[in-house]
Amino acid sequence: MLARGTAEPAAPARRRASLPPRHLADLDLAGRKAAVAELGERGFRAAQLSTHYFDRLARDPAQMTDIPAAARERLVDAMMPRLLTPVREMSTDDGATRKTLWRLHDGSLVESVLMGYPDRVTVCVSSQAGCGMACPFCATGQAGLTRNLSTAEIVDQVVWFAGTAASGALTGAPARLSHVVFMGMGEPLANYPRVIEAVRRLTAPPPEGLGLSQRHITVSTVGLVPAIRRLTEEDLSVTLAVSLHAPDDDLRDELVPVNQRWKVAEVLDAAWDYAARTGRRVSIEYAMIKNVNDHPWRADLLGKLLAGRLAHVNLIPLNPTPGSRWDASPKPVEREFVRRLRAAGVPTTVRDTRGREIDGACGQLAASTSTVSAKTERGSTAVANGGWHSE
Ligand code: SAH
Repeated sequence: MLARGTAEPAAPARRRASLPPRHLADLDLAGRKAAVAELGERGFRAAQLSTHYFDRLARDPAQMTDIPAAARERLVDAMMPRLLTPVREMSTDDGATRKTLWRLHDGSLVESVLMGYPDRVTVCVSSQAGCGMACPFCATGQAGLTRNLSTAEIVDQVVWFAGTAASGALTGAPARLSHVVFMGMGEPLANYPRVIEAVRRLTAPPPEGLGLSQRHITVSTVGLVPAIRRLTEEDLSVTLAVSLHAPDDDLRDELVPVNQRWKVAEVLDAAWDYAARTGRRVSIEYAMIKNVNDHPWRADLLGKLLAGRLAHVNLIPLNPTPGSRWDASPKPVEREFVRRLRAAGVPTTVRDTRGREIDGACGQLAASTSTVSAKTERGSTAVANGGWHSE
């Protein structure tokens, strides 16, 4: 509150790109033990807290009855500070697809999407608030980058949704979250160290981590070649997805502006080295945009580039984004594109796009709070209103 007599207005919310408080998911088990010891607690409390968080999916100190009541709150405050606050939840497909808009500690907003299928549960996570890659057909790219997420902010999106799945909220899907795709907001390889740490946390067995299979994690990139090469050296067997969208540099320079720096051939070379090293098939993502990249000759060129490689093509019908002048390709055009790729011997699928109705599909995450009252959003960063085009 202002002191009596001062006429000073409240300071305007400042845009700050600060990382959140430290959370146990930022640390490996040894780091957590050290942190707990610094709090004057016994080292084994780190494993107890970790079991609650990663294994029981519990965050409420009241549930942690194996920890003395006096220490619980203090440990939870210090090791499990609240990182994500749900601002809005939406669902579609009879509840099988859910999108949550989260507010971070500094007011930044990100979204993640949970998708239940008969045989698996997948979460699509954000790795950055906003994105600096500026792909013109993607809603996230229009607002620019606010900041990188911390390791724990990434992990916590998954752990929250693991709790949602475990509660049985996804009808017709398993109760265990099994797959993670880094296909939400942001360019994961531009937040490299934190994303790799997040992968390690998600795949370490409990209580160190969530115990997911590396093979069930997909990291999607615009094609940051040095980072793909670094990933190749990590000896992780995650799936690499490359957002190609055009087989020729002229068009890709426009659709994926980072192509001006690393060309199609260099990106694919790095992808083939990743495939050779890991034995994992690379996923080539290709949004089908009417009269832009869907020509038969482009299918043939793409087929030529990929034939005989450890790759498959995932075509994504373009999802509408506000202000975009582009449309999805008509189905017959899409079918012909698929036919030509398959004729070239390239395994090709068309993505079953989930979540369009809630702007939760690929490229639609803009962390818009247009339906959240301005009041609740005061003090948040510019992403709050910058997500949508309005021309
Ligand atoms: N920055 C990373 C992670 C985002 S993944 C990357 O680009 O790979 C999101 C995927 O959806 C990417 O393949 C992206 O190119 C694609 N995409 C973006 N906007 C889209 C849209 N409007 N319709 C369909 N796919 C889109």
